Amino acid sequence: MHYQLDEKTAVAQLVSALLAKLKKASIHRVKAVRIRRGTPFSEALLRAEFTRIVDNTPLQGAVIVMDDFTCNFTCKTCGVSHFITGDNLFDLLFICPDCGWSHEIENAGMLELVDVMPCLDTQDDGPA
Ligand SMILES: [Zn+2]
Repeated sequence: MHYQLDEKTAVAQLVSALLAKLKKASIHRVKAVRIRRGTPFSEALLRAEFTRIVDNTPLQGAVIVMDDFTCNFTCKTCGVSHFITGDNLFDLLFICPDCGWSHEIENAGMLELVDVMPCLDTQDDGPA
């Protein structure tokens, strides 16, 4: 049985790692966070959980930009490359249309931080 994180655990891990990084970089406010959502996660649940746990942290009020999972995958059996999206996956399994072999796409089950856009303390919201 494949171990799969639920939304609550995935968001908690991502946020605690991110907060540690922000602290190190002395970033006190974040404008937006970009996240790549693994295919098993519900976007609505991720957003709700994120909003719930970031109160009173530098992430409070940050816009969450969510990318759907995609990747380029080269079939290990026949060597043909495919661009994979959530639509091509059964759970985490990709079935190669060229040879019919199935492969587990591990990254498709993860929640990944793509980018963080901090607010600069010395600037207001106007254009720089
Ligand atoms: Zn193949």
